[in-house]
Amino acid sequence: NALNFSGGPGVLPARVLEELEEAIRSAPGVGLSILGVSHRSDWFAELVDQTERDLRALLRLPESHAVLFLQGGASLQFSLVPMHLLRSKEQTAEYLRTGYWSAKSISPAHLEGQVRVLWDGEGGGFHRLPRPHELKPAADAAYLHYVSNETVEGLQFHWIPGRDDVIRVCDMSSDFLAYPFDPTRFDLIYAHAQKNLGPAGVTLVLIRRALLERAPADLPAILDYRAHLQARSIYNTPPVFAIYAVSRVLRWLIEEIGDLDRMCERNRRKAERLYSVIDRYPELYRGWAAPEDRSLMNVVFRLATPEREAEFLRQATQAGFSGLQGHRALGGIRASIYNAMTLVAVEQLAEFMEEFAAKG
Ligand code: PLP
Repeated sequence: NALNFSGGPGVLPARVLEELEEAIRSAPGVGLSILGVSHRSDWFAELVDQTERDLRALLRLPESHAVLFLQGGASLQFSLVPMHLLRSKEQTAEYLRTGYWSAKSISPAHLEGQVRVLWDGEGGGFHRLPRPHELKPAADAAYLHYVSNETVEGLQFHWIPGRDDVIRVCDMSSDFLAYPFDPTRFDLIYAHAQKNLGPAGVTLVLIRRALLERAPADLPAILDYRAHLQARSIYNTPPVFAIYAVSRVLRWLIEEIGDLDRMCERNRRKAERLYSVIDRYPELYRGWAAPEDRSLMNVVFRLATPEREAEFLRQATQAGFSGLQGHRALGGIRASIYNAMTLVAVEQLAEFMEEFAAKG
């Protein structure tokens, strides 16, 4: 197989792929293919509970927050967040517009109430994130929304913006579980699975329970966090296979990596290896992100000319590296090195980049 450096769906641990193959034949303890296991079975209810317990243990997430397993991807959350948290057309939500995905998250909020873009990176070409002194978040905002890791541009917050007395909402789709953090500083976190957690099909939502009490009463049940919470994420047929895969990825993280400190340490080593090549050959490789905002997950760069870029991609594909083409909105090169990407694979890519540069 080629090495999967794609922006997502990303690579999964080899051990998990083997477990999934086995489960497609016969899920452990069921005697049926996982693809045909009833979502109303005790087995599946226990799987959801165990997955939640593992997630809580990894994050040290207290009972103040509920965990939901939903469908519709991160994009559905762009709508569900304002539908639940903007309770009148007069209320204002604050958004940080730091790249492709946070820009996408803003238009659905306009349908529910007022939006203030607290910081807009477009004038600077989305090459950097705001510094703390550049943000003046309001005390009376309904919430502040930001994207912790801009997947397309490879920009990652290494600090937590917003005020602790205003609801803080974060799209962590592309860096969830990549490093330790205090989940209680967030009121709502969402992350789709297809980067660090498993295949597409399931999206995790961590929400402070107190917020649910204040949400509007007239939401359609399928779009209401409360209906999913009450049904323990089995409101309608959930993506059983995707949730099973998430459960195996969490077990891998706990049993093979250890904890989020170790995960972060490994992610840092991978990212540093690639950024060090970029920095060593500035006449060929041009990093996209300002150095302080470089992402541990998506290493985005351009080459000196479009011709060199095309040649780089051609040779990389030939050498067995897949998914290095930058996002269609940006072009260039993007090496996505999610949790399951090994140091060995990153080392191979780094050596390929060094050899390509040395050949001139
Ligand atoms: N948010 C971020 C940070 C993303 O990277 C993406 C997609 O890659 C999305 C949202 C959209 O996710 P989905 O395709 O699951 O709706």
